[in-house]
Amino acid sequence: MKEYKTKLQKRKFYKSKQWSGVNGLREQAIRRDNYECQECKRLGKVYTDKHDPDKHKRLDVDHIKEIYTYPELALELDNLETLCIRCHNKKHNRFRFKKNKWDDERW
Ligand SMILES: [Zn+2]
Repeated sequence: MKEYKTKLQKRKFYKSKQWSGVNGLREQAIRRDNYECQECKRLGKVYTDKHDPDKHKRLDVDHIKEIYTYPELALELDNLETLCIRCHNKKHNRFRFKKNKWDDERW
């Protein structure tokens, strides 16, 4: 069983083709969710960023159950949900200050 405990293990996973490739899981989840943040949707608003023509790049795909604890669910589409950067940060209680550096710490 694969583990995703360390930063490096996670980074490797999120950079893998299976995850971030052309038809990777990330893409599949976002498409399934209609390019909308599911948390915003639950709150009755749809996240759109009018200032950002490339808005779906600002969407993250979150593991509902963290792969740290549930590595076997890392590749389960049912365990994925699309979140906007804001909701994602809220969920993990993290804030990214370096706006242009997401790629370093992409989840
Ligand atoms: Zn949102």
